[in-house]
Amino acid sequence: MEGAIQNLHIPLISAIIMSILIKNTLLGGKESHIYIEENRISEIGRITEADEVIDGANTIAMPGLVNTHTHAAMTLLRGYGDDMPLHEWLQNRIWPAEAKLDGEMVYWGTRLAIIEMIKSGTTAFNDMYFFMEDVARAVQDSGVRALLGYGFIDLFDEEKRENEIKETEKFVRFVETMNNPRIKAAVAPHAIYTVSREGLEWSAEFAREKGLRLHTHVSETEKEVKDSFEQHGMSPVKYLDSMGFLGSDVIAAHSVWLDDRDIEIYAKRGVWPSHNPASNMKLAVGRAMPYSRMRKHGIKPVLGTDGAASNNNLDMLEEMKTAALLQKLSGDPTALPAHEALKMATEWGTQALGFNAGKIEEGYLADIILIRSDIPEMTPMHNWESSAVYAANGSAVDTVICDGRTLMRNRRIDGEEEAIRRAREMAERFYG
Ligand SMILES: [Zn+2]
Repeated sequence: MEGAIQNLHIPLISAIIMSILIKNTLLGGKESHIYIEENRISEIGRITEADEVIDGANTIAMPGLVNTHTHAAMTLLRGYGDDMPLHEWLQNRIWPAEAKLDGEMVYWGTRLAIIEMIKSGTTAFNDMYFFMEDVARAVQDSGVRALLGYGFIDLFDEEKRENEIKETEKFVRFVETMNNPRIKAAVAPHAIYTVSREGLEWSAEFAREKGLRLHTHVSETEKEVKDSFEQHGMSPVKYLDSMGFLGSDVIAAHSVWLDDRDIEIYAKRGVWPSHNPASNMKLAVGRAMPYSRMRKHGIKPVLGTDGAASNNNLDMLEEMKTAALLQKLSGDPTALPAHEALKMATEWGTQALGFNAGKIEEGYLADIILIRSDIPEMTPMHNWESSAVYAANGSAVDTVICDGRTLMRNRRIDGEEEAIRRAREMAERFYG
């Protein structure tokens, strides 16, 4: 942990720019000027001068993408164990490696993840992991936005539970003292099969007392659901609801194996299911999240990559396409159209995380990305939404602005080489 703190001298966000003008970009299919004052979008249209002027010709402007479920530092475990059954993968590869993690590794793993996210157009993410103070520092140093939760795992042991409660409270206090509007704390009990009923109840109570969001994994596999029926006589969703856990402040990762009753409960409580299609397919969870049935009940599913060990990248443009294709595999080509994939990754995602971003309109936070429209895969552009979802991937992103600051221009990010070098060094430690 000490090591990570010493590494914080890198000047990532240089001179303070008070206003930015993006000229001649395509916004919603129309050529526009976007004017940003401090950290908000202040006008679409007339203004022609600013402290920083960005030529937006040959680009389309979109809200920054929002990754609603990830474990950022797992970039260090990218490709460390692939093509394995879930439980063997966790027990023989992931958990032994994670036991070797320290704060410095998590800091650089997260810095690497954030650079990868920025380069593929993500400006906000929802993270659950360990050494979360180091994750928070990495977010602070990188200029993006994040909702961060300490991965609470008590394994049904009272002593462990007391420790996890202390860790959670300590991290929430740490985020409070950071006093950075880009960083918010969440309460993140891992799942019903790793956290006791008492731990889940404490989490919900503490989150509501503090006005924080809850982040957990729900019904990722059929086994989880079967075990829940055996142990509690009900589904994981019903079990969580029976203790008052579910609400519009809950982000429920995966939510794959839900029945109609579960979906009704989600709709009634306003839960945000975070769809992680690449991870679900890679770990072979056996079916797709019931997206269309959720939409029929008015639920707004959001999108996430999950960690890089189960994806294996953090490219949200790719994830939109994966989500749309996975739903169409059911035989319905109209399921999850491009327009909705974009909403999942922007407007709805940011609502789930509780930030006032996700739209390029006056008054919204200035989280904006520019995607090149003059590259082969974006030519011709009959429909910008189809091009963004089905044709583009992260490498089409040219410029990224978050909170009114330019984090990437012409695909250049300050500190990229150092983060890659340090992350590579950190990953060596798994073999030590
Ligand atoms: Zn996860």
